[in-house]
Order: sequence, then C-alpha cells, then structure tokens
Amino acid sequence: MQEQLLTLEPYIKVALPVPMRTLFEYRVPKAIALRHQLLPGMRLKVPFGKQSRLGIIVELCYETEWDPQQVKPLTSLHDESPIIPQAIINLCKWASRYYHHPIGEVFFHALPAMLRKGETDNFRSETWWILTELGHTIDPNELKRAPKQQAFLDIVRTHPNGLSPHIMRLHDLQSTAAKALEDKGIIQRELRHFSKNAEHHGHQKQVPPTLNEEQSVAVQQLASKLDTFNVSLLDGITGSGKTEVYLRLIEKVINKDQQVLVLVPEIGLTPQTLKRFEDRFNTDIVLLHSNMTDRERLDGWLMARSGKAKVIIGTRSSIFVPAPNLSLIILDEEHDASYKQQDGFRFHARDLALIRAKEVNASVILGSATPSYESLFNARLKKFNWIKLRKRAGNASIPSMERIDLRGKTLIKGFCDSTLERINVHLNRKEQVLIFLNRRGYAPTLMCHDCGWIAACQNCDVNLTVHKGANKLHCHHCGHQETLLDQCAECQSHEIFTIGEGTEQVETQLSHLFKDTPVLRIDRDSTSRKDALNNITQKIHEHNKAILVGTQMLAKGHHFPNVTLVVVMDADVGLFSSDFRGMERTAQLITQVSGRAGRASKPGHVLLQTYHPDHPSIESLCTLGYEYFATQDLQERKTLGLPPYLHQVLIRSESVDEEQSYLLLDSLRLEAEHLIQHFNYPIQAMGPYSAIIVRKAGQHRYILTFKSANRAPLHQLISQLAQSLEQNPLTRKVRYAIDVDPLET
Ligand code: ADP
Ligand code: ZN
Ligand code: ZN
Repeated sequence: MQEQLLTLEPYIKVALPVPMRTLFEYRVPKAIALRHQLLPGMRLKVPFGKQSRLGIIVELCYETEWDPQQVKPLTSLHDESPIIPQAIINLCKWASRYYHHPIGEVFFHALPAMLRKGETDNFRSETWWILTELGHTIDPNELKRAPKQQAFLDIVRTHPNGLSPHIMRLHDLQSTAAKALEDKGIIQRELRHFSKNAEHHGHQKQVPPTLNEEQSVAVQQLASKLDTFNVSLLDGITGSGKTEVYLRLIEKVINKDQQVLVLVPEIGLTPQTLKRFEDRFNTDIVLLHSNMTDRERLDGWLMARSGKAKVIIGTRSSIFVPAPNLSLIILDEEHDASYKQQDGFRFHARDLALIRAKEVNASVILGSATPSYESLFNARLKKFNWIKLRKRAGNASIPSMERIDLRGKTLIKGFCDSTLERINVHLNRKEQVLIFLNRRGYAPTLMCHDCGWIAACQNCDVNLTVHKGANKLHCHHCGHQETLLDQCAECQSHEIFTIGEGTEQVETQLSHLFKDTPVLRIDRDSTSRKDALNNITQKIHEHNKAILVGTQMLAKGHHFPNVTLVVVMDADVGLFSSDFRGMERTAQLITQVSGRAGRASKPGHVLLQTYHPDHPSIESLCTLGYEYFATQDLQERKTLGLPPYLHQVLIRSESVDEEQSYLLLDSLRLEAEHLIQHFNYPIQAMGPYSAIIVRKAGQHRYILTFKSANRAPLHQLISQLAQSLEQNPLTRKVRYAIDVDPLET
C-alpha cells in the first residue's frame, strides 16, 4: 500500500529576510511530507546561498516555475503549526505589494524579535509559589525570628492560587525567603507558563461618567456599525471626550468576548491613558511598545494571539499582531506622523488598519482633534463616516485664541512684554502656564562674533544645537555630539555667542524671571531616562502654580487640569516651509497644544506670538479653527495638484558618493520616461532633485517623484522600476528606498 503523504504539495514558497522582492521556492522532501502537515505561517530552515536561513512558508504549490532539478529541498521544519494566521499572511502580502517592499522583510517585520530569531511561540515558564499542607496550618509566629519569611508567608496566604513573580516584585519579596520557606516545607514551587490572566485582582472598577448628547449619538452610531467593515472618523476637538467614546465601544466588544486593537502614537501612550483603561475594564490589557524587553513583547503578542487579551494597545507595528477575534481597530490621534514608518519598510499603520479590518469584517475608528487631510478628504467623499464632537466634555469650555503681534516689539528671551504680563496674571491666580516651543536644546546656532564661523555638523548640512546643561553640541539629524567649545574653531576668538532659543534656554530664563515658580521642562532630553516623564507629570500635579516648557511632546494626550494659559512662542514656523505639508503640521501642533488649556472647570486662553498676525492661515486658524483652516488649505492642494488629490511615490537614493547617488536616479528617470511613453501611463515624473538637507549622516540624498491621479498605473510603473533597481549594479554603492504616499520630502 502507498504511504499517505501529509503534505500533498511538493513545493513551497518561502519568505526570507533578504532585500529581494520575491518569495523563494523549495522542495518538500518526502521524509518530511510523510510526517508533517506543512502549512503557510510555519517557520523552517532552508539553504540560501552557502548559508542556512530561517524563513516562513507563505504558499504551498503543486508545481514550480523552475527546473525541478534545480529546486533545493528545505532543511528542516521549525514549527509544528503556523505561528501566524492567514489574516496576517494576507496583510503582509498586501503590504509588500502596496509599498513595493521586499516581502521577506515585511514578514520578518511583522514578527516579534524573538520569533525572528527562532524562539518557540510558547509563553515563558516562571516559578510560582504555593502553600504546602504545612504552610496552611503553621502558626506564622514560628517565623518571628525571620521577618522576611514571615512577610512572605503572609502574602502567599492571601494568594490561594499561588504567588507569581509579578506579585513578588510588587511586594518586594525576595527569592531567598522563598527558598528558606521551601526548605522548611512550608511552600513549594510550581513551573507555570506565563499568563497575565492569573494575576487578576478584580478590584473595584470606575463608574463611567454620563455621556453628553454628542457623545451618546457618537456611541450609538459607532455601536450600530460594529460587526461589519466600515471606517469612521471621530473628529472631536481636544477634550471633547473621544477617549470616553472609545471606552464605551471597547466595553461592548469585551462583552461579546471579542478583541480590540488600539493604536497610539509613538510617545502618545501616557500612563494616564493606560490607567483610564485599566480602571475601567476587568480584563487583560496587553501593551506593545518599544520600551519593553523582547520577552515582554513576545508574551504580549502571544496573549493577543491566544485571544485571551481582549484589549491590545500598541504603536504602529502592532497592526501586525494576530488577534483571532478582532472586531474593532481604533487609531487614536490618527493624524500623528509616527504611524508612518520613515525608514526601511515604509508603511502607514492607518492604511494597514483598513486593509486588515476589511479582511476580517472589523470596524475602524480614526480619532483626532486635528484629522489628517487624507482622512478629511475621505470623510468628505463619504468613504468614512464623519462623526463630529464640537463641545468639550464635562464642565470644560473651549479655549480662546489670541494673536500677539511681535512686530517692532522688544523681546526678552523670545517673549514680548505683554506675553510676560499675561503669564504673571495666571501664575498669581495659582494656575499653570504652558510654553510651547518645538525646538529642544539651549540654542539652535553657535556663532563667532569675529569671523562669522558657525558650528556645523561634520556629517550633515546642518548647524549643531547647543546643549548647555550637557556641555555639548548635538546634531539633531545624525546624533553626532561634540564638547561645547568656548572658543571659535576657525579663529580661536572667545567672542562666540548663541542665536535663537530652545526649550533648555527658555526654562533657564523663566526660572530667573519667575523666581518662586517651579519651571518644568518636557522634551526628549528631559525625559530620556525611564520614568522621567512620569516624575515630571507627577510634579505638575503636585504644584498649583507652575510653568511647563516643552516641545511637541506636550501636544500628545496629556491632561493637566490646572493649565489655563498656553503660549505658542513661534506660531510662524510652518508658514514658509518648503514642504507642502508644513502648514498642516503646524496647524495640528498649535491646535493640539492649545487644547491643553482649560481642560477642567477653569477657562483656558492661548497666545500665539507671530510676526504675521494678518497672514490668512494664522488668521483663519485663530478665529475659525482647524476644520475651516483645513478646508481652505485642502482647496489649495487641489489647485496645485498635491496629495490627497493626487497620489505620490518617491524614490530616494543615498550614498557617500554624491555623483553616484544622483546618477542612479537620473538613469531611473530615463527608464521611467520610456515606460511612461510606451505604456501611455498618466504619470508625471519630477527630479532627481536633492533632499532639503542634502547631506545627512554623511549620505548625499536625492529624490525622484512620481505623481498620478490613478493608483493602478502608478503601482505598475513603480513595480517595473523596482525590478530594474534590484538588477542595477549602481545599487551596490547607492542605497535606495521606495516611499509610497510619502509624508516627508
Ligand atoms: P479627548 O480624548 O477628546 O481629548 P477625553 O476623553 O480625554 O477627551 O475627555 C476629556 C476629559 O473629560 C477627561 O478628563 C474625561 O474624564 C472627561 N469626560 C469625558 N466625557 C465626560 C462626560 N460625559 N462627563 C464628564 N466628564 C467627561
Ligand atoms: Zn571665529
Ligand atoms: Zn549630523
């Protein structure tokens, strides 16, 4: 009788982490086919060149396009069953096609780091402690002379299901005490698979507030759409209670035993937000962000994949986390640029959220006080349901905005008199003032008075930023640092001075000007250490009057109830930007920062310092608000033929050799012209032109742009060009990247 092969298809297509836009074919040896059912999503070892590599099966096939003699057999299987479900496989395939990124790199990006390296997809084991019979009956006083053991015993007794390492850490219990108790036969160890589930306390959950009219309508509308694929834009001003709306929907999802994925911007997940979730739900909440160890991330990922975690909160890459019962995806602050990965695999989590939701019939909610133009555009076209919240929740009112004309005024460290007076008024009322300046460091420029020398980065075409506290000069583009000089590097003069202000300087100056007021700074430098941000926000809540100085970090999700005045030091930054998205970004930032004012019962005010008080953009943002502003700006994009009215793809090159960098794109442009003519593609090509900062980290950067009203031909052309780039010998010296729907130019 013939042996039954478990796997009928003799060939497989495998994704490998290599920069090639293809899957690799292998043969399944009979010995393996007899013993194992091969399925897409399983990892395996295959020969690749002279090496053996870990890959993922993407497809099984009956035949091969190659000469069967040439197709190598796979070496060994790594998993008994698929580690990722078909839904994630499909998402990776789509992403690889849409972003023209090598498919193996996409698959490997989608996996937690430990699975990429071959770890098994099991929860880690950990040691739990449980009481023995003796442990149940012994009189704790017998341990009087060993207080640590006694304390340990007390706590194990309050955990009848066993004491986990997590609870041990919470109570600061030592494993030496556990050992001693074990030796006395009072407790015994048990190896269990890590699972957050077992640690639930079921403590009292918070009673939610009564929804206001707008919120109720929003919740009703959104709830009626659960269980089908649809996208809603929850366009609600800052403090309008969007998070409360999310919480109500999440509750419905949890009650149906389904899962929700909540995406947050990179540094947007504040401990405050997490606490709001934890206080509300009696269920496992899994967090996935970059500040976790690889093991913690894998455990979270496994919790999501097992379906046990009902709520998964994470940054952009979490869009790839398997969740078998996914019924809702929420993107909070959907306009945030950190949803787009800016290097390597340049995907946008918003696009992928839509694709993923469609695949599994889930709903998507995009929430923002300042929606991206892309989402506003789709809402106008009725592709998205547009739900507006225009009132602040609770007792809070909308802050008033006022322009402060800087023309002809004497500035004291970047502030004019009237601004300083206003700050004083609020501080005297024991309220808090927030100063927004999107420039960290002490000063952006260091210059010599005698010869005009300016401290510049050796690797980039930019000036170095002065960081006085650290006594350093920093490049904010490549990370290069050098010691702060006290004399000119050219003429050795000691007459060197700084130009302009950064947050560090403003912090120093304000502490001199307002001596009895605590001044706290929130930016990347002041919060680089773990828990630093926590400590600062803690201090903010402790004090009544205080000044907070910060960069865009302040714009994200924080709730400071006692802030009643927001000062935007430089409202003009985006006005003359060479990037067409400059105004959109500035308007979002100003609106978000302004939204920090008056979030509780006291009304808030916003002061915009500007040299262009009559500029139509500043005026409309100030008097008519973001929605109106965006409508005008979008009209302009339409006139100029810019996204979202047209689709864009950039091809970027970079090399230490400037000429080669240019040449690669120049030859590609010729090829593109040829294809455009030949296939009659409705596509416009521009470039190559240099990036705004040509040299960055020693690399000379050029850009080629393609625009079209039609996605299909655009993708066709790019995929032809991508194939040709892979063959181009110049790419040994020049790195290139394809950037679909770019956010940066
Ligand atoms: P957003 O996410 O839109 O900025 P939040 O959901 O954070 O707004 O709500 C702002 C504040 O108002 C929070 O402190 C929240 O607890 C409170 N809040 C939200 N909804 C209500 C409500 N219906 N009644 C009272 N307070 C509310
Ligand atoms: Zn000099
Ligand atoms: Zn640099």
